[in-house]
Amino acid sequence: MRDCIFCKIVAGEIPSQKIYEDDDVMAFYDIHPKADVHFLVIPKKHIPTYMDVEEQDLPLMGKIHSTVQKLARELELKGFRVINNCGKEGGQEVFHIHFHVLSGGKLGTPGQG
Ligand code: 5GP
Ligand code: ZN
Repeated sequence: MRDCIFCKIVAGEIPSQKIYEDDDVMAFYDIHPKADVHFLVIPKKHIPTYMDVEEQDLPLMGKIHSTVQKLARELELKGFRVINNCGKEGGQEVFHIHFHVLSGGKLGTPGQG
């Protein structure tokens, strides 16, 4: 999709620190890390938000989560948090669905100050 930062990263038009790529999914480090390890896992398909996921996309969503698991294993993460910000009010800034994977350092716990 034109004017989508993450579609441009998928197309190689914007450089990224890529960790993983296959036909459907890509993972790369966040440009502004919020933890010792902070990467994003995205589908190559442009789906704007969590609420735009359709029935036919569910295998792709499953693949995103198996990719999180595979990378957590490969990077030997001791523990991690997976976050999706959905919609402007949910803190989403890039409207191409993505899952943050955060690990290490002091992760705050949502709802506990
Ligand atoms: P959101 O707030 O939409 O859930 O998260 C968007 C994330 O994308 C932010 O953590 C931000 O640092 C990251 N980001 C924005 N632009 C770029 C970029 O060009 N490259 C990379 N690697 N990350 C980006
Ligand atoms: Zn996109």
